[in-house]
Amino acid sequence: MTTHGLFIDGTWGPAASGRTFAVENPATGETIAMVADGDGDDARRAIEAAGARQSDWSRSAPRERGEILRRTYEIIMNRADELAALITAEMGKPLAEARGEVMYGAEFFRWFAEEAVRIGGDHTLSGDGRTRILVTKGPVGPCVLVTPWNFPLAMGARKIGPAVAAGCTMVFKPAEQTPLTSLALTRILTEAGLPAGVLNVVTTSDPGGVVGPWMSSGIARKISFTGSTDVGRLLLAQAAENVMRSSMELGGNAPFLVCEDAALDRAVEGAVTAKMRNMGEACTAANRFFVHRSVAGEFSAKLGERLSALKVADGAARGAEVGPLIDRAGMEKVEQLVDDAVGRGASVVVGGSRLSGSGYFYAPTVLADVPPDAALMSTEIFGPVAPIIPFDDEEEAVRLANDTEWGLVGYVFTTDLDRAFRIGEALDVGMVGVNTGLVSNPGAPFGGVKHSGLGREGGRAGIEEYLESKYLAIPRS
Ligand code: NAD
Repeated sequence: MTTHGLFIDGTWGPAASGRTFAVENPATGETIAMVADGDGDDARRAIEAAGARQSDWSRSAPRERGEILRRTYEIIMNRADELAALITAEMGKPLAEARGEVMYGAEFFRWFAEEAVRIGGDHTLSGDGRTRILVTKGPVGPCVLVTPWNFPLAMGARKIGPAVAAGCTMVFKPAEQTPLTSLALTRILTEAGLPAGVLNVVTTSDPGGVVGPWMSSGIARKISFTGSTDVGRLLLAQAAENVMRSSMELGGNAPFLVCEDAALDRAVEGAVTAKMRNMGEACTAANRFFVHRSVAGEFSAKLGERLSALKVADGAARGAEVGPLIDRAGMEKVEQLVDDAVGRGASVVVGGSRLSGSGYFYAPTVLADVPPDAALMSTEIFGPVAPIIPFDDEEEAVRLANDTEWGLVGYVFTTDLDRAFRIGEALDVGMVGVNTGLVSNPGAPFGGVKHSGLGREGGRAGIEEYLESKYLAIPRS
């Protein structure tokens, strides 16, 4: 079985301790590879390499950085099938979806290849006309990157792309469940010409033992984290010690609103996408479906019909549409949330239980008449469960939708243009899907408000997160 090393200062090698840990295929429970189990000693070597390389890398030509990113995009596209198979093997999503993630992830490299040579500045005169104000933009400095397991390629791409474009060096810790795709991506970036020491990767089964030393090092100037709100809070507190720039892409509890004038079939298709993409294991997954009472019955029945027809299987199997959940804990959490809702009076339209056999499979589920006190109303389900809550008027729907500490994304389905704008503006979120169940797009600023995070990834805003302004005051003589 292959054992993968750490990548520090341009060299692959074992962890200082010599320890390794196993990566499992969630569809079968089998170990598919071993990876080096880094600790504090490895972490220190990695951040020192990033710190030592920062000054040279800051001075590299924007075009050189852009071309590394462009080549990375091309290599990823050429190896799309291979990368998709790796994502499916370690994460579980069906191959077709894994391929979609590869395309989506690759696009960030193409986008930021183009951004690298568009880093601007500003030049103005002071109000009294006596001083030139020249604003330049430079890299913020060495960055700590930490990613979750649910999009093993895209989450790294959204951070590494802009960091390279801006001229930042990096230390990167992928999720322990899915390190293999990140290691493959690291090899591709190296092949594309990324110099030694710019990207340093430490895999570990002890996240705090690696990320902690990076945060307290005094070398790292920024943290970019995607993951749960609880870990995000912890890292923000650590960032405060060294006053580090922070980007946080945290949890969600997305409302999905279906108004009485919605095109119902379109709303059902949008719901299938917003709920079932990634088996519901996405921060953008629709978590609460608020449906006007006059169409709630028909919507529930149609959604139930669509979800129960999906083929649940090992993601690598032909025709698989829904794969396993990431691990036993993930499956048991979904099970408890459904049992709690049913215990409080929700009715099961379809699904409602785990599937027998090996792997962590849960049946696509629709729950009708879910009461407001059900735990899944205030918890990220992270599974294929669609709870439906009827509403009577628009104001009530918006109030219920905003009644959460999170604010990442919301979805609204209506054929009334004024209403679409009105609800879109009233939702306390960073992104709104209007008659669509998909908002992710490399050209758009992805991110949330409230406990869903700070900052944006992608779009024109994406590179700003990795740039610092400096202003030169130049008197006019
Ligand atoms: P998680 O917070 O458990 O883990 C995320 C990363 O943090 C992993 O790499 C993990 O090893 C690391 N980590 C865990 N404990 C740590 C610690 N003490 N110190 C430093 N690092 C630590 O989240 P997860 O279960 O991997 O991912 C699911 C979560 O991610 C969900 O809440 C989901 O909504 C969120 N997510 C958000 C976005 C977004 O863009 N907003 C995208 C994808 C996932």
